[in-house]
Amino acid sequence: MFRNFKLVPNILFGRGCFAQLDEVVAGRRKSGEEWAVFVVDDVFKGKDLEKRIPLHDNDFLLWVNVADEPKTGYVDKLTLEAKKFNPALPCAVIGIGGGSAMDLAKSVSLMLTNEGSSTEYQGWDLIKNPAVWHAAVPTLSGTGAEVSRTAVLTGPEKKLGLNSDYTVFDQVVLDPQLTADVPKAQHFYTGMDCYIHCIESLQGTYINEFSKAYGEKSLDLCRQVFIDNHPDSADKLMMASFFGGMSIAYSQVGACHALSYGLSYVLGTHHGVGCCITFDTLDEYYPDGVREFRAIMEKTGVDIPRGVTKDLTGDQMETMISVALNLDPLWENCLGKDWKAIMTRDKARSLFEKM
Ligand code: NAD
Ligand code: ZN
Repeated sequence: MFRNFKLVPNILFGRGCFAQLDEVVAGRRKSGEEWAVFVVDDVFKGKDLEKRIPLHDNDFLLWVNVADEPKTGYVDKLTLEAKKFNPALPCAVIGIGGGSAMDLAKSVSLMLTNEGSSTEYQGWDLIKNPAVWHAAVPTLSGTGAEVSRTAVLTGPEKKLGLNSDYTVFDQVVLDPQLTADVPKAQHFYTGMDCYIHCIESLQGTYINEFSKAYGEKSLDLCRQVFIDNHPDSADKLMMASFFGGMSIAYSQVGACHALSYGLSYVLGTHHGVGCCITFDTLDEYYPDGVREFRAIMEKTGVDIPRGVTKDLTGDQMETMISVALNLDPLWENCLGKDWKAIMTRDKARSLFEKM
């Protein structure tokens, strides 16, 4: 079976293009009654960007906090807040922020039209009804959440996305100016998420010319940003993120992402830094990538937390291993069909112990 890949239909790109968001949303406001929800990372409260959000009288500004990465309970609460604000469906949901805020916006747009709790839809193609029209404005580059068909959520039982064609954004606004104030460490961690997407995609057994075309370009852009310190780095990393997302959408990530899911499920480690911690132990599987990653880390002067698993209880370690090894396609992409003979529980444990 070939995957019939759903693409983002509309994209604005360029420094300052955020100013055109109002015009884009205007196309959704058919009668005077229509209203929009802006799902915005609260890091922008009181900042210049807050004043630039094109809010109309009926609109709802929904601040979201991403100190913890998105959880199903939080999505359900936000959806309820939007419904309370106005029981009629909004004409648009616009997410402004990094991967977390974008995933929250995707999730709210889906849960406004699908009954029950978001926990019921963690998985593949479980969403029944199309979402409210939704748009992304990334303010942090790397995750590829702006192009993917998933919204990653941690629920009571699992960390698993709302994967569906309905999840894909209807509009993306790529304005590199918006990433100007990202703290240095975060810029590195989320940028390396993109770098790792490329390595895992390009070295995976699922690789094909489609994924290769995007992955190779994305990797080239990452190197211009992190090795050459190119003056147009913000623009380049924004496109690297988009292309990295396109690459994995038609292939898969690998060992680093599988292990990082275990780390994040048990310890709440954020995605970017979690991938960096994990990747640093994977010389055996991605020797060239890990060598280059370490050189970039040294060049940027950002370090990663160490010894993060040393105080785990036996049960926590077992859970971490189970969560990681449950991600069959990621392991198959990294190690091939016989991956279970290579990545045993003991092997996974020894990798976690190095982190
Ligand atoms: P994030 O969205 O969690 O943000 C990290 C930090 O940066 C936060 O404190 C945030 O407030 C801050 N921030 C964001 N933009 C800023 C700006 N312009 N200036 C200053 N601070 C800013 O980080 P992320 O790495 O972009 O996203 C991680 C999340 O994305 C995780 O929840 C992960 O599961 C998810 N993810 C989703 C996909 C997908 O395909 N849907 C892919 C990878 C990761
Ligand atoms: Zn990632």
